[in-house]
Amino acid sequence: MEIIQKRADQDVINTIASIVGQDRVRTSKADLYVYGFDAGMHRNCPDAVVRPSSPEEIAQIVRLANRKNFAVIPRGAGTALCGHVTPIAGGVVLDMQGLNNILEISSGDLLCIVQPGVVCDHLNAALKPYRFFIPGPASSEAATLGGMVATNASGAKALKYGATRDYVIGMQVVMPTGEIVRFGTKTLKNSSGYQMEKLMIGMEGTLGIITEITLKLAPLPEKTAACTASFQKLLQAGQTVADIIAKPIFPAQLELMSEMCIRAVNKATGLNLPEADGMLLIACDGHPEAVNDEIRSIRQLCDKNGAFHMQYTEDPTQIEALWRGRKQMIPSLSALKPEFSTVMLADDMAVPISKVPEAVTGFIEIQNRYDIYIPPYGHAGDGNLHTKVLLDPENPDHWRQAEKAVQEIYDLVLKLGGTVTGEHGVAISKASYFKQERADAIPFMRAIKRTLDPNNILNPYKIFDWEDSFLTHLRYPVEL
Ligand SMILES: Cc1cc2nc3c(=O)[nH]c(=O)nc-3n(C[C@H](O)[C@H](O)[C@H](O)COP(=O)(O)OP(=O)(O)OC[C@H]3O[C@@H](n4cnc5c(N)ncnc54)[C@H](O)[C@@H]3O)c2cc1C
Repeated sequence: MEIIQKRADQDVINTIASIVGQDRVRTSKADLYVYGFDAGMHRNCPDAVVRPSSPEEIAQIVRLANRKNFAVIPRGAGTALCGHVTPIAGGVVLDMQGLNNILEISSGDLLCIVQPGVVCDHLNAALKPYRFFIPGPASSEAATLGGMVATNASGAKALKYGATRDYVIGMQVVMPTGEIVRFGTKTLKNSSGYQMEKLMIGMEGTLGIITEITLKLAPLPEKTAACTASFQKLLQAGQTVADIIAKPIFPAQLELMSEMCIRAVNKATGLNLPEADGMLLIACDGHPEAVNDEIRSIRQLCDKNGAFHMQYTEDPTQIEALWRGRKQMIPSLSALKPEFSTVMLADDMAVPISKVPEAVTGFIEIQNRYDIYIPPYGHAGDGNLHTKVLLDPENPDHWRQAEKAVQEIYDLVLKLGGTVTGEHGVAISKASYFKQERADAIPFMRAIKRTLDPNNILNPYKIFDWEDSFLTHLRYPVEL
């Protein structure tokens, strides 16, 4: 694929410095290197990193980009997993972490207003005294609200509490042509025309630069209780997930881990979970009596499906330890085999919930045909399944095997009526599979992009505009 460069030359960088101040522009080799990648697999250096302090400064930079034809890549904490913020055609990275104020918390109106660089956990710490929260991703310690909106992030609580899109009611955006506009309202409901604020959700920095977000609040539950259930067969764990939802019970968290994931968490955290082919980690929250009822029914279902070990706790410290273990899955898997690394492939598929058992056992069957590891885990309660590919990143054959295995996994997911990405987004590494999934919708997505960003300056070559496989611009030392 030919990448048309959209570079910022020294004149452009000087002009940007005159807009934001020299101290907010970085061009050292080290800065350009670290802003060349996110938590995904791809890398390419920008020409400058700029930390704007107002929407007006951003609007001026964007207008300059249209005149001088350089790319602008908005970036939050850089925790995205698919090359979202990799400046593939060069250009200027806009580091939005400088816009990090909580502007308003209005518990009576059930809303808060934040700048995009506010970190999810910082917002939740500020909301806690009001007894509210915003559900966040497993990366909530670092992920910014801007990045969460632009990827429609969601986490373990999405089954009961929804994804980021369910909380966004309004926003201010600098459009790709430099206008500063407000979408949505400060009311919980609105039917006033196209829901433009929703169009911005999941746009991965390609349709606008979000400079303010109005979010609906969720109430903090009165009580939380958790239980674990271990099964001899992964299929039994998957079937239990489908049975719990069909009951219907909506736990706050319903996570599945396969055998290799359990071993990895035990080794990395010392949690000492029972070794099993499959394990469920379940939390219920809400009114104490409802929580007790739900946990009782869930334990009966686990028992019926053959759980050989169950644990129950209401102790917040123990619950926190269990979820911390689960949240550390990526580094835990990476540490399991010294010569292997975890790479972000086939990392967040979603299938209809009833297909979870077929999907997880299918992933293992696919893994067993290769020399690499693809252990399934994930937020199985809403059908969102994770795997990570464990391979030797310096071994070209492993990458080729990964390419084939991942294609097989996505073929299975699409056959089961699923999607290639339930929460992380498309960017570069999932682009070719996304095209397989959404072929009919892509011309309309392109039309929106062309209309809003006629000079293609915002985060180019992402989502439907990435034409190659994921095996290019890798940040690993491997010749393919
Ligand atoms: C250990 C780990 C665990 C994770 N767990 C989860 C999980 O459970 N669920 C989940 O959904 N994701 C998860 N992720 C992925 C990632 O953390 C989320 O996508 C997160 O929301 C990204 O936020 P960020 O601030 O890091 O954004 P970045 O990575 O900086 O950017 C992400 C995208 O948003 C765009 N963007 C950022 N700010 C703006 C803005 N102000 N205006 C317009 N566009 C903008 C960028 O251009 C980019 O396309 C995980 C990542 C890691 C490393």
